[in-house]
Amino acid sequence: MSHIQKEIQAIKSGLPEGVHLVAVSKFHPIESLQEAYDGGQRIFGESKVQEMTQKYEALPKDIEWHFIGHLQTNKIKYMAPYVALIHGVDSYKLLAEINKQASKVGRIIPCLLQIHIAQEETKFGFTPDECLAMLEEGSWRSLTHVQIAGVMGMGTNTDDLAQVETEFATLSALFRQMKETYFTDAPYFKEISMGMSDDYLIAIRQGSTLIRIGSRIFGERNY
Ligand SMILES: *Cc1c(COP(=O)(O)O)cnc(C)c1O
Repeated sequence: MSHIQKEIQAIKSGLPEGVHLVAVSKFHPIESLQEAYDGGQRIFGESKVQEMTQKYEALPKDIEWHFIGHLQTNKIKYMAPYVALIHGVDSYKLLAEINKQASKVGRIIPCLLQIHIAQEETKFGFTPDECLAMLEEGSWRSLTHVQIAGVMGMGTNTDDLAQVETEFATLSALFRQMKETYFTDAPYFKEISMGMSDDYLIAIRQGSTLIRIGSRIFGERNY
């Protein structure tokens, strides 16, 4: 087994039922993804549409491609035919644009609403209040080519693990509130995407269903 395959096995062997690993392969070459694939990994996360599309074209077609980056509206059309889940939807406008591109290719694209839970100013996302206001307003119900499948968030980049745990607990609580208020009859509303290389064990404790791990599997990235 290669280093990449060993890391994937080690992470997966500790995952509770219902928690899935997104292998974040951004900036890593096709050969590294192929190695992970040969070790059984089928979900990959990428943050640039062009890079993801090149990898999609080069690799086996049973891979689930998750887009985890910040999305520009003019790039949606390139991934609309194949993307399995878009994690970082942080405005109604973006959701409506994904809906439009999905309808053109006859698909329903699952999306996660990105919530700002970290202390840093720079991270994208709805505040919890903005997210609830968007759902309450109701226009999203007419977007029949997207499916809101849950929420996504990033913890503060800090050594204060109690802080990160509080943030993940906040995201979990918001997920439950949204489920009870807007998605009781929607079995597809089930994902909480939180947890990266340094904080995924905390995220799992707080109810994560999708952990997004890059450097622990593939090593440091060369930007
Ligand atoms: C890059 C990235 C990750 C992976 O981060 P690592 O610390 O390398 O595990 C996870 N989520 C998002 C949104 C990212 O951009």
